Amino acid sequence: MSVAAKPVTGLRDAHGRVARDLRVSLTDRCNLRCTYCMPAAGLPWLPGPDVLTDAEVVRLVGVAVERLGVSRVRFTGGEPLLRRGLAGIVAAVAQLRTPDGAAPELMLTTNGVGLDRQAEQLRQAGLRRVNVSLDSLDRERYATLARRDRLDEVLAGLAAAAAAGLRPVKVNTVVMRGVNEADVVPLAEFCLARGFRLRFIEQMPLGPEHGWDPAVMVPATEILAQLRTRFALTEAKERGAAPAQEWLASAKGLPSGRIGVIASVTAPFCAACDRTRLTADGQLRTCLFAHTETDLRTPLREGAGDAELAALWQAAHLGKAAGHGIGRPGFHQPARTMSAIGG
Ligand code: SAM
Ligand code: SF4
Repeated sequence: MSVAAKPVTGLRDAHGRVARDLRVSLTDRCNLRCTYCMPAAGLPWLPGPDVLTDAEVVRLVGVAVERLGVSRVRFTGGEPLLRRGLAGIVAAVAQLRTPDGAAPELMLTTNGVGLDRQAEQLRQAGLRRVNVSLDSLDRERYATLARRDRLDEVLAGLAAAAAAGLRPVKVNTVVMRGVNEADVVPLAEFCLARGFRLRFIEQMPLGPEHGWDPAVMVPATEILAQLRTRFALTEAKERGAAPAQEWLASAKGLPSGRIGVIASVTAPFCAACDRTRLTADGQLRTCLFAHTETDLRTPLREGAGDAELAALWQAAHLGKAAGHGIGRPGFHQPARTMSAIGG
C-alpha cells in the first residue's frame, strides 16, 4: 500500500492536543550515575529479551511516522549512545515518510560521553540535532554530580557535534540548590561563546528513591535572576509546543544568543504538549508522569499489523491526562524513573 493511501487520523487526545513528537528510549542503561537520576549502584536493568530489537524499534517508529503523522523523533534513554545499533536505527528511521511525504526530523538526547566518536556517523545516517546534558563546567563538581569523571569527554563530544553540523547544538542543565547554582552563569558564557543553545531544566520528581525535594529544585525565576546578573535578557515571542521558554541573552564581550528555561514544575506547558513516548521495552506512555502504559511489544511480537498497532496507540493516546499535577494533592511519582522512561 502506498504511504498516501494509508488512513491517518493522527494522535489526538481528549483535550484537543495532537502529538507529533515521539521520544524513543533505546536503552535504560547508562554509563553515568547523575545523582538526581540514578542511584550509585544503577537500577535493575531491563532483561535483554524484553528490550525491543533494532527492527522492532524501527517498525514501531514507522507506525508512528507513517500512520500517525509523527514528524519529530528524538532518541533517548538511559544513554542512547550505548545502543550498538544506534546508527542503523537512525538510518532506517530517516527513510520513513509522514503521510505528507516529509522525512521526520531526527534528534538525540545524550550525556555526550563517546559522542566525539559517533557524531559524524550519526549525521551521515540522518541525525539532525543533538541535546547534550552538562550540569557543570567544574571538573570536580561534574564528577560529583555524574559520579564519573567524564567532563573532558563530554566537552569533546560537544565540539564534535558542532563540527559534524548537528546544529544548533543544545545543552541541557538541571539546576539544583546547593549543588550547581554556581554553574549557571559560566555555562551560559560557555554556550554563547560557542553558539550552543543552553536550556536550564527544573528538577522534576522522576529521580531514584522518590527523593525529590521541592526545596532543592531551583525555580525558573531564580535561574533568570542569576542570568540577569550577567546578561540582558529579552523574551523570545514564539514558543509553540516547545518546552523551553527562550530568551535572547546579550552581554559585553560575548556573541548574543538564545538561552531557554524549562519550567516543567513551576510553569507547566502541558496544555501545549505534543509528545508521545516509547520505552526501550516497547511500552507506550502518553506522559512522563503517567501511571499506566500500553504494551505494544506483545502485540507486535504476536504478529499484529501496522493498522492494529496504530489503533492501539490512538486509543491509548485518547486517555492522555490533561496535566502532570505536580504539587497537587494526590500527586505521586510514577514507578519508572526518568532513565527508564526516556527523558
Ligand atoms: N542520558 C541522556 C542524557 O543525560 O541526556 C539521555 C537521558 S536523560 C534521562 C535526559 C534528560 O533528562 C537529561 O538532560 C537529564 O539531565 C534530564 N533529567 C534526568 N532526571 C531528571 C529530573 N529528575 N528532572 C529533570 N530532568 C531530569
Ligand atoms: Fe544517565 Fe542521563 Fe540519567 Fe545522567 S541523566 S544518569 S546521563 S540517563
